[in-house]
Amino acid sequence: MRILIIVLTFVAGLGGAVAQEPAARGRIALSFDDAPRGAGPAFSGYERAAALLQTLRDADAPPVVFFVQTSGLQSEAGRARIARYGEAGHLIANHSESHLWLSRTDTAAYIADIDQAEARLQGLPNRRPWFRFPYLDEGTPREKRDAVRAALAGRGLRNGYVTVDNYDWYIESLWQRAVRDGRVVDRAALGAAYVDMLIGAIEFYDARAVDALGRSPDHVILLHENDLAALFVGDLIAALRARGWTLISPDEAYADPIAAIEPQTLMTRQGQIGALAVEAGVEPASLTHLAIEETQIDAFLAARRVFGEAGD
Ligand SMILES: [Zn+2]
Repeated sequence: MRILIIVLTFVAGLGGAVAQEPAARGRIALSFDDAPRGAGPAFSGYERAAALLQTLRDADAPPVVFFVQTSGLQSEAGRARIARYGEAGHLIANHSESHLWLSRTDTAAYIADIDQAEARLQGLPNRRPWFRFPYLDEGTPREKRDAVRAALAGRGLRNGYVTVDNYDWYIESLWQRAVRDGRVVDRAALGAAYVDMLIGAIEFYDARAVDALGRSPDHVILLHENDLAALFVGDLIAALRARGWTLISPDEAYADPIAAIEPQTLMTRQGQIGALAVEAGVEPASLTHLAIEETQIDAFLAARRVFGEAGD
């Protein structure tokens, strides 16, 4: 491993000398949960899907994965949106029918909800056998957690884990509220705040991974199929590339050896790296950061003057 790192550092150094490119960092795939979501502060669901696809095309992005909450497939329009993502080369996977907390739900009912989602996904293009736990709640107590893990394995479904947790959904909800309240929204500031918060989250978890594993794994960031993504994910991709990150497909990311690890800790709410860090002895309280703290995000957006007064 040490020799490999030295060689990679040398190669990255050569690349930097020749092409003036940033030193190579890690690799990361994008995942979007809760599709197909309803109207947001800027777009209808239909408009958002078109904008997000165009943004990904313009960025020359590799495939991304959409984790579908399949109650949204009951409408023809919702199903058509998801089919369109698949036909564009992106991947489609299971995020349950009803978006339940496993820890608060009867185990058999939870498994039936996964099965119903899998049935509704039948016939859609570019599917993958991955399940993303709603709220990243992999279940407590241990018996429940293990029963659902066994049920997934028995169905050939793998955990569509995240390595990078963040509250992009919280920024979207503040934006929605600001629009409803008639406040002026500085979209450039909003996009910059979104990108900077996500870059910070990615580099936070990457550092925890290097501490726990001795290397940077292939990452999967949790995003949501929201208007922020449709408008600004191209800016996120550009910022990542400028910092030396490589965008990869979820197929590549889930081939990382960490995909084979089933953490034994029940602290799963921050994804795979959070769990592996805790198993390596890190205090859960030290895993806090801007992107998962609502009060910190409030202060961050206020300092960036993202939302003005009503009637500004
Ligand atoms: Zn979700």
